[in-house]
Amino acid sequence: MTLLTMKFGGTSVGSPEALAQAALIILEQSQRWDRVVVVVSAMNGVTDALTRGAVTAAAGDDQTYRAIVTDLRARHYGTVASLFSPDGERARLLAMVDEYLDEFAAFCRSVHILGEVTPRAMDAITSLGERINARIMAALLRKHSLRSEAVDATELIVTDDTFQNAVPLMDKTRDRVLASLVPLMDSQNIPVVTGFIGATEQGVTTTLGRGGSDYSASILGSCLDADEVWIWTDVDGVMTADPRLVPEARVIPALSASEVSELAYFGAKVLHPRTIWPVIERGIPLWVKNTFNPSCPGTRIVPELESSPGAIKAVTAIQGMSLVTVEGRGMMGVPGIAARTFAAVASQGASVLMISQASSEQSICFVLPTQAVSSVVHAIEKEMALELARRDINRVWSLDNVVIVTAVGAGIRSTPGVAARIFGALGRAGINVIAIAQGSSECSISLVVSSELAVEAVRQIHSQVILEN
Ligand code: ADP
Ligand code: ASP
Ligand code: MG
Repeated sequence: MTLLTMKFGGTSVGSPEALAQAALIILEQSQRWDRVVVVVSAMNGVTDALTRGAVTAAAGDDQTYRAIVTDLRARHYGTVASLFSPDGERARLLAMVDEYLDEFAAFCRSVHILGEVTPRAMDAITSLGERINARIMAALLRKHSLRSEAVDATELIVTDDTFQNAVPLMDKTRDRVLASLVPLMDSQNIPVVTGFIGATEQGVTTTLGRGGSDYSASILGSCLDADEVWIWTDVDGVMTADPRLVPEARVIPALSASEVSELAYFGAKVLHPRTIWPVIERGIPLWVKNTFNPSCPGTRIVPELESSPGAIKAVTAIQGMSLVTVEGRGMMGVPGIAARTFAAVASQGASVLMISQASSEQSICFVLPTQAVSSVVHAIEKEMALELARRDINRVWSLDNVVIVTAVGAGIRSTPGVAARIFGALGRAGINVIAIAQGSSECSISLVVSSELAVEAVRQIHSQVILEN
């Protein structure tokens, strides 16, 4: 019995034409595979709009969310009206859209009254886009004479209560997935599952973090022991760079799980960073494909590549970062400074993306998202109060508006001189590198550069190091 899990991203289900195209792909694959499970995102931009409605309502604005309701209603109504005839499921779907948008408005009204939006409320609010779209897609498959039902992942994916970035509890999830989806598939149904969302054991809605629908597909694929998981998006696969920044970027036919993890972690939005391991661990092939160019094979992600042509395969950048430096001569050789520094960071719930320490041990610097910086600096100053008073540590400071640029490729391990080529490319372009780190997996090198030079740095590495491989 063959089983395929396919996820369609926001652009792939963001218009009547895109939905129709995605439905054709599902139809075609349903003839090739015994079983197909579909995961859908909200229409592109909808999660952002829902978020904006909640945030503005919390800030005291009771107009913006109403305007958003009007926009979202028009967009979903337009989509439903163009895909479904009045004698079909149209009226039922329009009523469904109204129901969820009424729920959104009611949430925003409460948030407006309370003057705050908790992460828990945010998850309930942002889950609505996926709930609507799964129902539209299932109805569209029924229109194509397939049997299909929408399933809310709140019934399937059991998570902890880290709202907005929930962690799935895989054993419990597997039990639910097998109990709900297998009977559906046994009766020849194609389940259309909401991406992005889950629920705690108590049934409170959570989300897996922005871009999390990819992760949903991988969780379901892993629980069902799918033969393959395909991520359908709006580009031909994982590319040598973000094509929006580098128009000459090319598709990479195959990448190892470690390589793609580094890329995703350091900002390549094409895959949510947590997508990779649940499927790769179970030996399930993962593909990234283009909904709008389905004949292009896309990118295959495999556990390991036997040979890796070229040292560097892709370059990516992650914006909105700050570099924090803890410096002082008295740190030299003193055990525990790094441990205490990072314990202070962790106490603020911040996660560090990159660390580098000067060999003289006179400073430790690390990069983290700018929004976490002030509380982290404060926590470190508190932790190191004694060292600061004794001048063993001179200062703890941050540099904002920096970007991490990461070059990825398993060939880094075996190719001498890769770093030199990268620095040569940047040097010739007059781009100053503020800090450097090489991943311990040895398949990435990360550099910190000032924000305004980030795009140029990506382009230079792409043209001088990747294309010239
Ligand atoms: P979806 O809604 O299908 O999940 P996303 O917008 O989340 O799509 O991700 C796809 C986008 O990721 C592409 O349109 C592209 O601009 C961006 N992207 C960034 N880096 C890369 C890369 N290295 N390869 C491919 N796409 C990339
Ligand atoms: N709709 C969600 C988001 O925009 C999840 C996803 O698209 O993967 O973040
Ligand atoms: Mg995405």
